[in-house]
Amino acid sequence: MAMTEHKTTAERGILIDGKQTARRLRQSIAHHVEVLVADHKIMPGLAVVLVGDDPASQVYVASKEKQAVAAGMRSYVHRLPKNTSQDALLELLRKLNKDKKVHGILVQMPLPKQIDTATVLRAIDPAKDVDGLHIENVGRLASGLPGLVPCTPLGCLTLLRSIVPNMSGLHAVVVGRSNLVGKPMAQLLLRENCTVTIAHSRTPQLPHVTRQADILVVAVGKPQLVKADWVKPGAIVLDVGINREQNAEGSRLVGDVDFASVREVAGYITPVPGGVGPMTIACLLGNTVAACCRQNELTVPELR
Ligand code: NAD
Repeated sequence: MAMTEHKTTAERGILIDGKQTARRLRQSIAHHVEVLVADHKIMPGLAVVLVGDDPASQVYVASKEKQAVAAGMRSYVHRLPKNTSQDALLELLRKLNKDKKVHGILVQMPLPKQIDTATVLRAIDPAKDVDGLHIENVGRLASGLPGLVPCTPLGCLTLLRSIVPNMSGLHAVVVGRSNLVGKPMAQLLLRENCTVTIAHSRTPQLPHVTRQADILVVAVGKPQLVKADWVKPGAIVLDVGINREQNAEGSRLVGDVDFASVREVAGYITPVPGGVGPMTIACLLGNTVAACCRQNELTVPELR
């Protein structure tokens, strides 16, 4: 399969518009919410728990709340002080697990240091774990069973499917092996029958590895790490990285990919911002609808 079929070498990589795809996905979600309300008298509910006052987390939580409400869902945001004890957080999660109006629960990361993240993730009912980080959902993804999948890799998969509906046999390279992005991304690509390579901070000759990729997903957190000569001509490049860079005019967001130079080589490329980022919250809403349907023994709609 030649990715270069999609563009001539004289052209620049085609932009993958995450904003537009996310908007379409949110519209489809809003429609399914309407159906759930009208036909079944069920309104999906998303509970988000924020501990502390990390400025970036506050922005993310406000955005999740706004978009959940815009999609017609109920949103419950629990803002807890920075010094909240682990026991108090676990008690809240027990209540949310039992609450029939709450179909999805997300604890915003990072948590303050007195709280053990793994313990908290395990305390969320796997059926409501819309971030897909509970070990049961991690195991389900790895075993090819239905479950809740982390939102950012799910968003990447949705973008990829809009370009290559059949990824079978393509070589996908994922740079980064976090539980949040890299590992679940690799599992999803494996499920699509890609040949998958996971690269990370200890991978020698990284540019040589990334140059093998038909699909390159970069989730590292290092501004503009990936250069044009790291990319195979015509490859699809998804840049998950969000890095704030200071310059003379103030600050701007940059990805893990050197966008301007890589765009000259890639077949398709996501910008930062406006690429993978907007897909994450849209997929969170999608996961909430899916969780709500499963909890009510209804068919999970195919959201795209
Ligand atoms: P992380 O710090 O948990 O993991 C980073 C991974 O990169 C690690 O597995 C590490 O081995 C690897 N790595 C580090 N340095 C490397 C190097 N020089 N070469 C190769 N690999 C290297 O980060 P994360 O949570 O996976 O997030 C990665 C990036 O994606 C961050 O910029 C984060 O802000 C962004 N992010 C974006 C979204 C979104 O919605 N778009 C969501 C989550 C994370």
